[in-house]
Amino acid sequence: MIRFKQLKGYPLSLGITDRTGGVSQGVYGGMNTNFYNETQFETACKDVKIAIEDLGLTGKIIIATRQTHSNHILKIDENTDFESLEQIEVKGTALSEYKLYSSPDTDALMTQRKDVILMTFYADCVPLYIYDPINEAIAIIHSGWRGTSNKIADDVIKEMKYHYQSEAKNFLAGIGQSAGKCCYEVDEPVKILFKAYFSEREMMHFFESKGSGKYFIDLKKANELIFLENGLQSDRIEINPACTICESDLYHSHRKANGGKRGSMSQLCQLIK
Ligand SMILES: [Zn+2]
Repeated sequence: MIRFKQLKGYPLSLGITDRTGGVSQGVYGGMNTNFYNETQFETACKDVKIAIEDLGLTGKIIIATRQTHSNHILKIDENTDFESLEQIEVKGTALSEYKLYSSPDTDALMTQRKDVILMTFYADCVPLYIYDPINEAIAIIHSGWRGTSNKIADDVIKEMKYHYQSEAKNFLAGIGQSAGKCCYEVDEPVKILFKAYFSEREMMHFFESKGSGKYFIDLKKANELIFLENGLQSDRIEINPACTICESDLYHSHRKANGGKRGSMSQLCQLIK
């Protein structure tokens, strides 16, 4: 479990799983939280329970994203109609004491509720969180190259400012383990998509040409730039430099698995009462 130093002492419990501490085996081992994979469902439920206990989360409602590299954000409040979400049957699994909901076509979750556990999934894509300790609100985000090129983090910050009266200077934000610039190669069409939302000058900070229309992209840096341009303070942005592709023994990596069988890591969090 990867934690962020700057969150210590705040009434928020948040972590991102790695490949240690669970019961999953083989390519899914040692921890896999992806219960959407039917062949791994029971084991993934066990690993999710272990992660929840590790973080000391007390909520009995889990809201997980069904990610599609979209910019769709689910805001969970007192009026949220859980019936509109997909409820996953967990009877007879390690999660039997929980209500597990999946939000379709969703890549970010935000809430001020203190009774729900939020959950997002990763294997190379960038885990982000944005926490407003003044108004006690948390958002967690799945930002791959597509979400980063569409600036999903920018949308989330604007939503938090609108709904929670958050001020940028108060945010604590984090960028978790993900594919690093050392390994993450993209081609020209990807770069062209970034041009819709980023200036050439900004892109110089996170695209590095390796010739023949290929680039190394630094998605952590791109998301850091999104945070900074929204007024977040640089000393309140904590970045985990770990590369999931370099260290695929410790982290699940989609690229290292050549898109084949692999587990997923999760960001899990809950505001503490
Ligand atoms: Zn790397």
